[in-house]
Amino acid sequence: MIARRVRDIDYQLLPGADRKTTDIVIERDGIVTVRPPKHFTPEQVDAVVDSKRLWIYKNLAEWRDLNAAHVVREWVNGETFLYLGRNYRLKLVSDQETQLKLLHGYFCLSRDVLESGGAQAAKAALRAFYCEKGRQRILERVNYFAPKAGVKPIALLIKDLQFKWASCSKSGKLVFHWKCMMAPLKIIDYIVVHELCHFHYRDHSAAFWNEVDKLMPDYAERKAWLRDHGASLDL
Ligand SMILES: [Zn+2]
Repeated sequence: MIARRVRDIDYQLLPGADRKTTDIVIERDGIVTVRPPKHFTPEQVDAVVDSKRLWIYKNLAEWRDLNAAHVVREWVNGETFLYLGRNYRLKLVSDQETQLKLLHGYFCLSRDVLESGGAQAAKAALRAFYCEKGRQRILERVNYFAPKAGVKPIALLIKDLQFKWASCSKSGKLVFHWKCMMAPLKIIDYIVVHELCHFHYRDHSAAFWNEVDKLMPDYAERKAWLRDHGASLDL
């Protein structure tokens, strides 16, 4: 099995089979596996995966919906939300100009937000908070690690990336999921280093991990943490 990457799709390339078509499967653990006809080169398989990417995105999104650790949120005083790996309690406040802010260790949410837009608006306020903080914090971390990695990203965006923590384009644009901001800084650093190393290697080859290891010798621990706790980083 060979790990390969096309755009932002990571997949496991299985040995070729006696068949005419390429078989793409989303496995139960959410891994994309691809079994091509025997004579296909990896580049040919990449092209097939690329042409099927909309199907893959759609199915990965469905997989994620089915497998998300469903956290039922109550938008009441005392409910907790993660920020940089720590839990902060919610406090509903009146007469607050901003929708949401972190103050004295509390997530202070304006009651108006809940009263006018319900849970959806409250979630949106929290997402906006993570995006705004992410733009500062993650940029800091990118600026710290990019020279060490010997790369020069050209842009940074925080948004909803669905099933990926982060991605980078060939042109040097980095995108991070707002959910990263719920993880401890140590883990955010790992995600940053991981993406920066993709500037050198677009795949998850041994050479890629060697590059990650150079910048972050304890990356395996952080990677395992993300695998084990990633699903709990959600609203
Ligand atoms: Zn990767």
